[in-house]
Amino acid sequence: MDSVGRLPGVGPKRAHDLTKLGVDTIEDLVTLWPRRHLDRSVLTPIWQLRAGETVTVRGRVESAQDRGFGRQGQFKIRIADQTGYLDATFFHASWLKSQLVVGREVILSGKVDSFRGRLTMTHPEFEVLESGHEPRLGLIPVYPLAGDLKQRFVQDLQSRVVPRWAPQMGDPLPLSIRQHHDLPDRSWAIAHQHWPLSWDERESSRRRLVFDEFLRMSLAVFWLHRTEPSFRGPVLDGENLLIRRFLRDLPFSLTAGQKTAWKEIRGDLQQPRPMARLLQGDVGSGKTILAALSLLAAVGSGYQAALMAPTELLAEQHYLLLESYLRPLGIELVLVSGRSKSSQVADRLQNLEPLVAVGTQALVSDRLVFARLGLVVVDEQHRFGVRQRALLGEKGLYPHMLVMTATPIPRTLALTVYGDLQVSQIRGLPPGRQPIATWHLPMKDRRDAYMKVREAVKAGHQAYVICPMVEESEESQGKAATMLAEGMAKIPGWRVGLVHGRMSPQEKSSVMEQFRNRHIDVLVGTTILEVGVDVPNATIIVIEGADRFGLAQLHQLRGRVGRGSSSSVCYLLADPATAEGEARLKAMVETQDGLALSERDLEIRGPGEVLGMRQHGVAGFQLADPLHDLVLLGQARDTARHILEHDPHLALEENQGLRGWVMEALAEALPGHVLH
Ligand code: ADP
Ligand code: MG
Repeated sequence: MDSVGRLPGVGPKRAHDLTKLGVDTIEDLVTLWPRRHLDRSVLTPIWQLRAGETVTVRGRVESAQDRGFGRQGQFKIRIADQTGYLDATFFHASWLKSQLVVGREVILSGKVDSFRGRLTMTHPEFEVLESGHEPRLGLIPVYPLAGDLKQRFVQDLQSRVVPRWAPQMGDPLPLSIRQHHDLPDRSWAIAHQHWPLSWDERESSRRRLVFDEFLRMSLAVFWLHRTEPSFRGPVLDGENLLIRRFLRDLPFSLTAGQKTAWKEIRGDLQQPRPMARLLQGDVGSGKTILAALSLLAAVGSGYQAALMAPTELLAEQHYLLLESYLRPLGIELVLVSGRSKSSQVADRLQNLEPLVAVGTQALVSDRLVFARLGLVVVDEQHRFGVRQRALLGEKGLYPHMLVMTATPIPRTLALTVYGDLQVSQIRGLPPGRQPIATWHLPMKDRRDAYMKVREAVKAGHQAYVICPMVEESEESQGKAATMLAEGMAKIPGWRVGLVHGRMSPQEKSSVMEQFRNRHIDVLVGTTILEVGVDVPNATIIVIEGADRFGLAQLHQLRGRVGRGSSSSVCYLLADPATAEGEARLKAMVETQDGLALSERDLEIRGPGEVLGMRQHGVAGFQLADPLHDLVLLGQARDTARHILEHDPHLALEENQGLRGWVMEALAEALPGHVLH
């Protein structure tokens, strides 16, 4: 379709800003959905306002005042219509001065409060009316913005473009399916997602569009699986001699939760069908042991096995740990990292000898060839999904797959993202764990946290200090960490270490080794310490600028301590700048339960973000919220299965539109790969 730059009123600058929103073509623009709608169906005269109601009023700005600054800063206006006055307050928003100018006519929407007998609104939505423009009434779409784009501009653009283009976009969904699920026509749904006449209309439009998103993804997932033969996985013995010896020598016994999960995994590995199982267990619940058991099932049955971690640092940690577990049993291990991708490793993988390869995702996506791959374990890496399995399949490999995560993912969502997936859970933590006392301290009380670090070090324990995320980049965080570590190194009696993403793998692993061997007391680092690192003698963690991290991330970071039997502490240092940041810190202080925290996180950020899924693509949703739209997701999956059962190659005339969707989705998920 045509690029948006060709639309009247859209110059190069605006086209560029639209690109930042993912909008290149007119089709992209038409499917740039409003984030929400403002209800301006009714204008209420001011004399009728009552506290507690959410309303829209129109009036003229009578006065405007900017008071205080910084944290106390307030911008107050008073508006009037023919029937009365209404005050509105905006905090930290003196930039509004230039817009809400005395004499201008405005529309305010929001909740009415009563303050000292006066009616007020706090942070209402507003629109300044330009002379000659009548205000838009009804349900007003509010679009995401980028660059210098103005809401009014995007609204105007959409009101010109949508009515003209939506009808031309066609409906790939055969009429029979639409009727069966009582779904409106796609063009209607698109148009009414932008400009619904009622909330009901918006909801039925959304239902249709969400169904489409789910259907598109489900078709793509089933399409990929369709080419996967159903009985080709290796049969692995989950009770072989190696496993029995490993369990015998383990210094502790498995928890009940670990036992149950292992039984489920073992059962799958013994089937000739490739396992696809998601293992969920809170931080510290002991997932690594289950990885080791699974690897042993493969190696003990004469196969090769791979363990993949999200970062090289973690891959190395796993390698070292597994080495200590598995070498005594006579098992060969190789670490496949950026630097060790030697031809030697490649040769060994190409041989038929059973071994365990540990590395990052590069293990499957690279040109490495496994001669006898029986199992892939993936740790804390939600992005490993349909795409990676498809890549393995292209190499003719159908190993068993175990994905381990501390983030609970609803089963239906897991099904959609990963294809067909079973879910196991490790319930409970190993015995003797103590809750991690968690405190939020304002920056001015930072010293208090470091006094506690001092005490812990004196008592022979170790500490982590995580540096703030300044600009969302490892690099800037690494700089902050370096500075902090340099400062701390001057404190007498502390042996300070530093890790960040820009260090060479050798440097990183040598620091980690020193920390494990207690040659370092305080380890200053970036979020590369987020997952997996396991040093039970570390009992205190200080997270600087904690409000800048996501909830799941904070929980993972906190999970670095509390791994031994001593009590542990976590300090969150922050002066949160947003209500959301504040809410996250509060949740952390209040609960230790990863499940509860993940649910909060999913609520705050939505699953796309939480799971690190891409905005578009096989795993991407724009309108769908898989947590809340579970019923629709189920319907779309059934529909997809049904369609492909009757027309496995989507060859029928009536399915051509759907075929187009699948090809698009796969092209996004597997760029550069030939699809059949
Ligand atoms: P995670 O689930 O976060 O990956 P780990 O596998 O790193 O957790 O385990 C956390 C710690 O608990 C490790 O030090 C591990 O040795 C220990 N651990 C695991 N299982 C048990 C158990 N059954 N009893 C006692 N300690 C255990
Ligand atoms: Mg782990």
